[in-house]
Amino acid sequence: MTRTVNSVCSYCGTGCGIKLESDEKRIISLIGDTRHPTNQGKLCSKGRELHHTVRTDDRLLRPQLRTSLDAPFAPVDWDTALDYGAQQFADIIREHGPEAVAFYVSGQLLTEDYYAFNKLMKGFIGTNNIDTNSRLCMSSAVAGYKRAFGADGPPTCYADIELAEHFFIIGGNPAYAHPIVFRRLEAAKEANPDLKVVVADPRRTDTCSIADLHLPLRPGTDVALMQAMLNVLIWENVIDRDYITQNTQGYETLAESVRSMTPRKAAEICGLNAADIVQAALWFAENRTLSFWCQGMNQSTSGTDNGNALTNLHLATGQVGKPGCGPFSLTGQSNAMGGREVGGMANMLAAHRDYANPTHREEVATYWGVDQISDKPGLTATELFASLESGEVKAVWIACTNPVVSMPDAKRIESGLKKAELVMVSDAYHPTDTTRFAHVLFPASGWAEKEGSVTNSERCISHLEQALPAAGMSRPDWKITADFATALGQKLGKNWQSSFAWEKAEDLFNEHRGLTRGMDLDITGLSYAILDEHGPQQWPYPEGSIPRVAKRLYENGLFETPDNKARFVDMTFIPVAEPVNEEYPLSLTTGRIRDQWHTMTKTGNVPALMQHYAIPQLQIHPDDAALYKLEEDDLVRIISRRGEVIAPARISKDIRKGLVFLPMHWGEMTAKGGRTNSLTKTAIDPVSKQPEFKHAAVQLESFNPV
Ligand code: SF4
Repeated sequence: MTRTVNSVCSYCGTGCGIKLESDEKRIISLIGDTRHPTNQGKLCSKGRELHHTVRTDDRLLRPQLRTSLDAPFAPVDWDTALDYGAQQFADIIREHGPEAVAFYVSGQLLTEDYYAFNKLMKGFIGTNNIDTNSRLCMSSAVAGYKRAFGADGPPTCYADIELAEHFFIIGGNPAYAHPIVFRRLEAAKEANPDLKVVVADPRRTDTCSIADLHLPLRPGTDVALMQAMLNVLIWENVIDRDYITQNTQGYETLAESVRSMTPRKAAEICGLNAADIVQAALWFAENRTLSFWCQGMNQSTSGTDNGNALTNLHLATGQVGKPGCGPFSLTGQSNAMGGREVGGMANMLAAHRDYANPTHREEVATYWGVDQISDKPGLTATELFASLESGEVKAVWIACTNPVVSMPDAKRIESGLKKAELVMVSDAYHPTDTTRFAHVLFPASGWAEKEGSVTNSERCISHLEQALPAAGMSRPDWKITADFATALGQKLGKNWQSSFAWEKAEDLFNEHRGLTRGMDLDITGLSYAILDEHGPQQWPYPEGSIPRVAKRLYENGLFETPDNKARFVDMTFIPVAEPVNEEYPLSLTTGRIRDQWHTMTKTGNVPALMQHYAIPQLQIHPDDAALYKLEEDDLVRIISRRGEVIAPARISKDIRKGLVFLPMHWGEMTAKGGRTNSLTKTAIDPVSKQPEFKHAAVQLESFNPV
């Protein structure tokens, strides 16, 4: 007998709805959900093949244990694995305190999983040392929203796509990274030939296929570009003075500050034409502008300023909280937004609360029935792995992510994991580059084997139904966390069982929504039943909400700041952390390709997805290729101060001279030439702590394998 369930694609933050038909042993078919408001039945190449990633040969089917990295893993039962991990954790906590342990989780987890990890670490273990791979993709956008609007949330929704008159896409390639969003942009452009599209990106990507103007700026110069655009708007007097007066603060200081960033000066910094900067600015003000940005802006040592430079443009033109306009950060992962909602990052508390706010700490502590929440910020991703290397953190639990491939300066991540006294990894797959450094492996149920919820880029929450029984002995991550919490409590002489006694995913959802009461993301009116009956719903959704109403934030002009006014943020252009020089003359930037996802633990198993790119290639401008005497497909050694990678050259005029590009996906296990993040640098944005993946200084050598 077969049955069909509703689910959501587990890759990008677009959040496409899918329908899965299964016979209880395998998924028979996967199609786009025609009733899902996001994709209306469409799926991209990755989404269409998603069911082939569920029952693969490398599924981790039972717990495994070893006491040293030299020893082979031994399969064990759940009680043995949990008991060993809990005993080690407890010993370290007793001897060194709770700050000596950490969790590193993932935007691929469901909201319910995220909630469980966060509750255990912050409420019961007693430290805020839980961070996530979302730190690598959207933490700058979060910090920017909070500075400008007083709260974390994109004010826009997908319905604005069809209402906009101008798309300003900066630091993003939705044609590859958010393909179904891009389909909607293409359709909007086709329906309205007057609609303008500006794409600011150092490379001419597929997204430029709909561009009226491409701004191939140098990596890391976004602030200079947008400051100059604001300068133009002020000079041309096309700002919205009434909106600025009534709804914002900080305009005068910023206006004075941007006067020196003329289009000519910005053109020099960015490597652009001044006239193009003026044109982009005028289109921004003259039309209803919907801006999209992603990792090209976020993964920068100026990542937070980049987001605020963009919100400054929207505030200056009064284009926030109105139809067809606003700043819209595209979240990288399927549930990066849900992780933010439960506070699953080192500098957040549940339901958008702040660890530095005593009232917020008390509210969460009371709700969870614990004495207190720590007022100390937890370790963010790069700090966490550096603390493993220095020995300050001695045990880490890594859930559903592969940091040995995805973190910058990968050799230091390996070094940290080798020094740790205990590394536990819960994952659906093994081996990965990261499980090679684990002592304990917990088999986690895959995306189609568990129930829960996710939130996409437009704050839209969907309910995922379970399509298949758990593979082998695997368990949902929330269940592993609950079992571990009980075991750890026992080792520490505490009874935590009743606080983690959930029977099903819905119990966690209901507990989570209770914590959102009165907050900006209030979902106290939402339930699995409403999601099943009416389909996905955007937050906020307080009690009494009407289903299926597209929601913009700040439509009433009131922001989440103490005086309800949005903030213009003043800033200074700061160059990239590692400038090029004679020894390292080229700038390396990294990013996604269309058919691979993150570190390929899923997509690497699907032959159809290897047809687009089978191996990583170095994109290089013909002038640079000539300088290094490179022909197409010649092997080249890419060398940074931290490591080297070997890849074939792909010569293209679609990349700036002086810039080279490598896809981010391949690791040591998947690419003979080495992993891209051996080259990148641990330079972070001072506010968001997001690493600068979009630039590293490199040199090239031709490579002769003989
Ligand atoms: Fe999945 Fe994103 Fe493709 Fe939609 S656009 S099918 S969410 S990868």
